[in-house]
Amino acid sequence: MAIVGAGVAGLAALRVLDRAGINARVIEARDRIGGRISTVRDPRLPYPIELGAEFIHGSAEEVIDVVGDAELVAYDIEGQRWRTKSGRLTRLDDYWTRLHPVMRNLKSVTTDRSFADFLSDKPGGQSASDARKLARTFVEGFHAADVEHISAKALADGGSPSEDPEEQRIMRIADGYDRIPRWLVRNLENRVATASVVEEIAWGPGAASISVRRNGSANLMSVRARAVIVTIPLGVLLASPGETGAIAFSPPLAVIDDARAHLAMGTVTRVVFLFDERWWTDTLAAAPRDASLDRLSFLHGESREFPIWWTLYPAHLPAMTGWTGGPRALRLAGGSHGDIEACAVASLAKNLGVSRRRVASHLQASWTHDWQTDPYSRGAYSYALVGGAGAAKRLARAVQRTIWIAGEAADAEGRNGTVHGAIGSGRRAAESVLRVLSSSPTRARAPLR
Ligand SMILES: Cc1cc2nc3c(=O)[nH]c(=O)nc-3n(C[C@H](O)[C@H](O)[C@H](O)COP(=O)(O)OP(=O)(O)OC[C@H]3O[C@@H](n4cnc5c(N)ncnc54)[C@H](O)[C@@H]3O)c2cc1C
Repeated sequence: MAIVGAGVAGLAALRVLDRAGINARVIEARDRIGGRISTVRDPRLPYPIELGAEFIHGSAEEVIDVVGDAELVAYDIEGQRWRTKSGRLTRLDDYWTRLHPVMRNLKSVTTDRSFADFLSDKPGGQSASDARKLARTFVEGFHAADVEHISAKALADGGSPSEDPEEQRIMRIADGYDRIPRWLVRNLENRVATASVVEEIAWGPGAASISVRRNGSANLMSVRARAVIVTIPLGVLLASPGETGAIAFSPPLAVIDDARAHLAMGTVTRVVFLFDERWWTDTLAAAPRDASLDRLSFLHGESREFPIWWTLYPAHLPAMTGWTGGPRALRLAGGSHGDIEACAVASLAKNLGVSRRRVASHLQASWTHDWQTDPYSRGAYSYALVGGAGAAKRLARAVQRTIWIAGEAADAEGRNGTVHGAIGSGRRAAESVLRVLSSSPTRARAPLR
């Protein structure tokens, strides 16, 4: 039994199979586990720096369970939301309530359309034009999506956090998100082969032959398996043959063509800034008199490039993260670190109504990771295109009881783009494998080509 990809989906599948006594092996292209969870540590900041997943969104049962089992510390992010509007800083503590008059109308979408199309009907009425602006930025940022293409129906099916206080909850893991994959793989580390890129899976009902390139070697290694769970990101699944990371399935999988027509990989650029001090808590001309940004958690700015920023609040540390999703992030993809840093400095300056020089004078270090050009992610996370509301569920269906596609893009419950969705999807695939194995002989029933 083989699993491709050592992100949380692959590792969650490994655990389920191991518990059932199946000696599965994980094949991972990177030289580390965790995939789109990427935590770095720097001696200058007594706190982990997240370049991939950072938050636990909503009830996120699968992650909360691991937090409990692994005895990790996760805490709620409260603090204050601020917004820049016409160059002035104002409080935005009712963010979710403000979105609600728009987002609740998603439920009435019967024939699917894009979110931009949905907005063009002015949901919420004339008085909600500001809420529509916020909703647009929310969908671009949170779903990493192009509003011209994301399915309004899929957004409605996935539920909007504006409706449910439990789903509005945001938590962070104090020790770093990488503790989750580390816990999932505990005692099974020797089952994971890193620096091993799967290039081809030749398969027939009940058997697969996997071609793997280890450590960039000129020769391919062949691994045989009764069944394969493939957890590579959607962007890699849709890559053209011959591109780094792409897997050639022989014979090809119809579910991948279906996914190509109905799902897309969203784009995100994030940058983490370390400053010499929490300078934004000093007087800011754009803030109301006597107001303090000491408890700032999220800032919803006016800059087009990096509209969303957050601090490490409630930790009082001099760091801020800038975030942009959707087409704006795509424009930054492939840019140099210096260009992205300069763009983010200008954005933060605009959002706080200060000079670029002031931001730059406090800047000590910055980190970013280009998930778009990373060959083993090829984007940040998935979303459904118009007409694609059921596509993730179809992607998750077993192919001739031999190949299972899992990972965040194949979460059948509309929790794509999340760590909990990815864990859930990996577990479901493994449970489905166990059902098949318990009901069929393990011998290959068709010769491999
Ligand atoms: C910038 C960013 C911020 C995010 N923020 C959050 C957040 O705050 N909260 C949240 O819940 N979620 C967040 N997410 C989403 C979350 O990180 C993902 O949904 C989740 O980690 C996906 O897990 P996975 O196992 O499905 O995929 P991955 O973690 O991508 O694992 C797939 C693995 O497959 C490997 N692979 C690829 N190609 C091959 C190949 N050919 N051969 C072998 N191995 C291969 C990859 O290297 C990778 O390790 C964020 C994602 C990004 C990019």
